[in-house]
Amino acid sequence: MPAAEFQHTLAKAASLSGTSLHTGAPVSLKIQPAAPDSGIKFKRKDLQDEPTVDATIANVKTVERATTIGEGSLRVHTVEHVLSALSALGVDNAIIEMDANEPPIGDGSALPYVDEIRRAGLVPQEAPRRFFRVREPISVETKSGSLLVILPDDEFRISCTQSGPENRFTQFFSTAITPAIYEKEIAPARTFVYYEDVQALMEKNLIKGGSLENAIVVRGDSVLSKEPLRFPDEFVRHKILDIVGDLALLGRAIRGHVVAVRPGHGANTELARALAKAHEATAAVLPKRSFPLGEGGLDINEVMNVLPHRYPFLMVDRILSFEGETKITGIKSVTINEPFFQGHFPGHPVMPGVLQVEAMAQVASVLMMRISKSASRVGYFVSADGVKFRKPVFPGDTLFIHAELTKSRGNRLAKASCKCVVNDAIVSEGELMFTFIDK
Ligand SMILES: [Zn+2]
Repeated sequence: MPAAEFQHTLAKAASLSGTSLHTGAPVSLKIQPAAPDSGIKFKRKDLQDEPTVDATIANVKTVERATTIGEGSLRVHTVEHVLSALSALGVDNAIIEMDANEPPIGDGSALPYVDEIRRAGLVPQEAPRRFFRVREPISVETKSGSLLVILPDDEFRISCTQSGPENRFTQFFSTAITPAIYEKEIAPARTFVYYEDVQALMEKNLIKGGSLENAIVVRGDSVLSKEPLRFPDEFVRHKILDIVGDLALLGRAIRGHVVAVRPGHGANTELARALAKAHEATAAVLPKRSFPLGEGGLDINEVMNVLPHRYPFLMVDRILSFEGETKITGIKSVTINEPFFQGHFPGHPVMPGVLQVEAMAQVASVLMMRISKSASRVGYFVSADGVKFRKPVFPGDTLFIHAELTKSRGNRLAKASCKCVVNDAIVSEGELMFTFIDK
């Protein structure tokens, strides 16, 4: 049972400095925490008024060799590696401040970003994470021979085939993208270039910051780099890193399987654009619901549409089921990360009984709002009778919260018999009474 998915930002700022790949200029970058629902933004600290630009697909300007975003005359180049790290580690909101037009290239991989983001740490925010769930296959194809398809999947997965000139260095890699897998298998993979391409660029003076310290150079059948290859298939892994970064421009966590053949920034951003379009199309046909109907449960997003409670005081992860008009079952995964365990008690974590009563109250009020077919009222807890705590609840337990409506007087007053169950044993129970007030 996955825990509730909330948006996250950094616990504190993360910093990185180095050299810009294309201009060769020194650059300092600082990733700052940002408000829920604000997404990822770049801020140019070196310009007057420090303008910002949203890292969104609508702001993509050019896709040759790297992804450049901008608004008006403002430009930020090579956004894909920092975006890749933020997205794969689950950072929904952040402001990336820079004093140049391009982030530091580091060692050509996303590892320096991953290290700094990890050092800063993540904190959950009071808003549900935004997802894009693929419902039907979507594909893009480019004239240069890239083909990308995304298929429905419960996870975010990428299966990628890359191949160089004359199909040299053809490599295949397939993986789910989770923070742990990304950090180990994808983030360390470095940028690579074909000598044929860089020779021309060097002559045009277009990669001033480029060196064997931040890119692998492929010349004929040989591979030139300061450090040996980090993986035998490092190239395709870097292609996956770039796909994650370019698709981050969608601004939503993707649930789908990307199958990519010879991807590049052009095809990647085109897929992101197609996903954005598909999302808008679905959002337009979905009716706005005041309350979900039917016997099915509610996911965390739906729960948060109904209940005003937010982390760390939202005590229900999802509603598993309703039974007729009078019964409801909710679930709460109790993890060691719950803030209350820190002090209750140090070295001996036990879930406070009053929070189990709160969980009962939240689940019961979902039932009552469903009966009144309105989420526009606030339930006030009037009394709790016969409350008993039978067993302690520990980190790792899954709390099943059952509530049954036993009495209701008009729309205003209701009584529910509630219990919390762990491993089929009742851990707490009580009779709760509520009154409702219009918001
Ligand atoms: Zn790259």
